[in-house]
Amino acid sequence: MSEKYEVFVSKDYFKFNAAHFMAYPGFRERLHGHNYRVSVRIEGALGDDGYVVDFGDIKSAAREICEGINERTIVPMQSDCLKIECRDGQVDLQSEDGSRFSFPEADCALLPIRHSSAEELAAYVCGRLMETLGILKERGVTSVEVSVAEAPLQEARCRREL
Ligand code: ZN
Repeated sequence: MSEKYEVFVSKDYFKFNAAHFMAYPGFRERLHGHNYRVSVRIEGALGDDGYVVDFGDIKSAAREICEGINERTIVPMQSDCLKIECRDGQVDLQSEDGSRFSFPEADCALLPIRHSSAEELAAYVCGRLMETLGILKERGVTSVEVSVAEAPLQEARCRREL
């Protein structure tokens, strides 16, 4: 007999409200915002302590990651079409079409992503979650999946196998 375990967490506070615009060569959206919601699914072995991963650890890690983005403008630092300059506490963005944005750095989430799509945000949150939780493989975790919804019933998921 084999048993599989997974834990799923999606608390009310797994959310961030943020501004963004999609930009890729030849295209830019207007600046707008979403009330993003996050959920986490982790599969793995049952540990000696009776957990796959302690819910408390998942909750505190996801809360911290969401707080880091909440009420900020998402800046995709690896963009292939935005010129981004950070200096004197200010972030300046210039788009291919010549439009410019300028935000206080403290009002931005400077993320190591190429586009601020729900997919790339899910990958970012997934990576940060794995870093924060640490030693997942040693616990017998086999996968971590994060979903980021931009709106109800409109979400992207990123799943990393260990
Ligand atoms: Zn959007």
